[in-house]
Amino acid sequence: MDEASLPHRAGKIPKSIGKFLPPLETFDSQLVFIYNGPMTRFWDTYSCWEEAEVAWDAALPASTPSAAPPPMKVRGLRRKSLSWMIKKDHDGTLRKHFFRHPFRYTLRYLSSLCKRAPYHRDGDLFFYGLSSLDAFLQQVQHAHLVLGFSYCQKPMECPDKRFTSACRYDPNHPICRACPIGKAINTMPLERVTCVVIPRVHDIARVLFDVQNDHPKHHILFAISSCELSLSAFADFASMAGFRGVGWRLGGQVCPNFRAFQYAEEGIKRGRTGFQNPDHYFEFLRAIRSSILQARDGREE
Ligand code: SF4
Repeated sequence: MDEASLPHRAGKIPKSIGKFLPPLETFDSQLVFIYNGPMTRFWDTYSCWEEAEVAWDAALPASTPSAAPPPMKVRGLRRKSLSWMIKKDHDGTLRKHFFRHPFRYTLRYLSSLCKRAPYHRDGDLFFYGLSSLDAFLQQVQHAHLVLGFSYCQKPMECPDKRFTSACRYDPNHPICRACPIGKAINTMPLERVTCVVIPRVHDIARVLFDVQNDHPKHHILFAISSCELSLSAFADFASMAGFRGVGWRLGGQVCPNFRAFQYAEEGIKRGRTGFQNPDHYFEFLRAIRSSILQARDGREE
């Protein structure tokens, strides 16, 4: 990205905010998906979950819980998110998929709008097209899973930079070893799971459509960690596309309003988000791993 096109240099962001922005390399956005990690997963080199987790956590302290986010209050969130999705669909991914089934998607979108909330919420978990975690775990046995993370969960010192989908999840790199994304990806089997770090909300739609195309015989499920604003704002699009899955609400320095979210979508995000209860999240991943291994070769973790 050249300097002139950067949002604050191009005058889209007030100078008062621009002068506090991080160095330029933060904006070196790679909005293509780079799966650049090793082809083996740390957990696969151990005989059980406990052994692998003890070995992983022995190198560096496990991730610490993030603070609970403040309550979200955004007026006209659905209108704003619709406008954002249309305006920022630069590569036409959404348009292309929408016009494959315009009537079906319009009907689904309108019926989603008729609901007060197009998801079922249980504490920090948002369910889309599913009723509970048990339902998710039952379905994941025979599904292809997209495990997604928001880029704002990446550490500031991430060797692959922050505003990018690149992630090396290298067990031998000290920063990756202390990073919950690195740990989470290393717990997953290689088969039937696509792991992705999401720079922009459009990118998750692109990944889900791509995975759907690549695995036409599989039912697709997603498990994505993100802030409450993103999980609420884009639920109508998940309903429209028929995507099913679970969203984990992140804590820490989440976007408190739509303006902050818009900046974050341009790579302007100084704070870091994280799991409020990492133990709960990793128990969930353990259950996923166990379900997949059981379906694959009849063994549990
Ligand atoms: S594991 Fe974490 S620190 Fe390592 S490249 Fe991925 S996001 Fe960055």
